[in-house]
Amino acid sequence: MDVIDDLLGHNQTIQVPHHVDIHPTLRLAIVTCMDARLDVFAALGLEDGQAHILRNAGGVVTDDVIRSLAISQRILLTDCVMVIHHTDCGMEKITDDGFRATLQADTGVAPAFAIETFTDVEADVRQSVERLRHSRFLPHRDRIRGFVYDVDSHSLSEVDCQQPGALTNI
Ligand code: ZN
Repeated sequence: MDVIDDLLGHNQTIQVPHHVDIHPTLRLAIVTCMDARLDVFAALGLEDGQAHILRNAGGVVTDDVIRSLAISQRILLTDCVMVIHHTDCGMEKITDDGFRATLQADTGVAPAFAIETFTDVEADVRQSVERLRHSRFLPHRDRIRGFVYDVDSHSLSEVDCQQPGALTNI
């Protein structure tokens, strides 16, 4: 038995018929990091069926995030986006050049993708929000807000994406 077998065993104990509509009821999409300490549902009080959650290392707005949001907005009718990055992110602990060199040294191949590390979490939130606001593939760009989640206190702080440097507690 490995960890995946354990999880499959758990799944067999919780199966209860429960249909939820495909369209997120809050018309909300969230772009955030894959960090294991950030339980998005618990942090925001979300329930199944309310929002799309798009996660990757750093919560970076990549082409694939834009692809998913285009489907989220155009097909599944979401119309607002939360970008949530967090304190103590693994992407602050490496550098683009260093990780790229590690991958190339280990495999002989330089990755085609951008690594997208960062040193300033609020600045990275602002960059992510700006990327979304400039994507013409997204029909709804007027309600995109950025936040930093504190992995110790579990509090969310909104990043002022109009005035660089401002961080507002909510
Ligand atoms: Zn992270």
